[in-house]
Amino acid sequence: MVLKDNCGRPLLNLRISITQRCNLKCTYCHREGEVKRANVSAEKMTLPEIVRIAETAVSLGIYRIKLTGGEPLMRQDVCELVKAIAAIPGLSDLSMTTNGMLLDELAVPLRKAGLKRVNISLPTLNLETYSKLTGGKLENALVGVKAAIEAGFPLIKLNMVVLRGVNVDDVPEMINFARDMGVILQLIELDPINVSNDYYSKHHRFLTEQEAMLRDKAVKIETRRLMHNRLIYHLPDVTVEVVHPTENCDFCMHCTRMRVTSDGKLKPCLMRNDNLTDILTPMRNGATDEELKKLFLQANQLREPYNKPLQTQN
Ligand code: SAM
Repeated sequence: MVLKDNCGRPLLNLRISITQRCNLKCTYCHREGEVKRANVSAEKMTLPEIVRIAETAVSLGIYRIKLTGGEPLMRQDVCELVKAIAAIPGLSDLSMTTNGMLLDELAVPLRKAGLKRVNISLPTLNLETYSKLTGGKLENALVGVKAAIEAGFPLIKLNMVVLRGVNVDDVPEMINFARDMGVILQLIELDPINVSNDYYSKHHRFLTEQEAMLRDKAVKIETRRLMHNRLIYHLPDVTVEVVHPTENCDFCMHCTRMRVTSDGKLKPCLMRNDNLTDILTPMRNGATDEELKKLFLQANQLREPYNKPLQTQN
């Protein structure tokens, strides 16, 4: 069984924010499109609640789940949570995006718990730029990358949000680093969410030049049809994926995702907060499995491409 929305897009991926707490302060952070809460000291969803949402999703054909936040490793129970979600029959891919600060201690336990893949945010290899962008220490992120490699994750990606005037020139160095580490580099365009208009106009840039360079060097280019039609450039000894959402209808037409906010709302689109479906409150009020499934169906009907092709005029 696979759910499709009104545009025929299948629903295959769930991205769950398991906390809003974070140990960094990245200037560009979109906070997964969530409005910042005043008090983020306590988790909004318990472990069994998150697992039940994940089970409902998998029963409806979703087979890939990504844990995010905030910083997912800030949750004390993150390894138990991973173990419980990884055990859901029918789930084939469980991954996480993390800033890597706590991976030194947690990479091995997470791998043992059943986490399949990890994306580590690394916007630059420049000490000063890293500190200015994130408020953290580059050294800790690099230790995290090494820990993930040593823990034996078969697929590790470095997430680099590319910012005009900040780290654009670091792209070649990041490609070399990814090659040396044997990991994939993911170049991400800045999304205009939870950053000021000023910040966005100053730092957003299309990755046109970078893609031209990658196209020149690639021995093979793949398209991730079930993930925004993203392009993967296979260079002779390193792989670089590009995330290009801005004004990109193709990206939205091939979106197969639903999100869950840290306070338990089904969120059909990163860019919008006007079409959320609360699933946590009904669950706490005793909703049956069938009722939870209906909430997913309802949220799925609210999925629609944010960037749509213009209707051709008659
Ligand atoms: N703390 C975790 C981390 O750093 O990966 C998870 C949360 S973070 C919001 C998830 C992903 O979103 C990271 O890969 C980050 O690079 C990306 N991201 C954050 N803000 C962004 C923005 N404004 N535009 C595009 N990607 C962004």
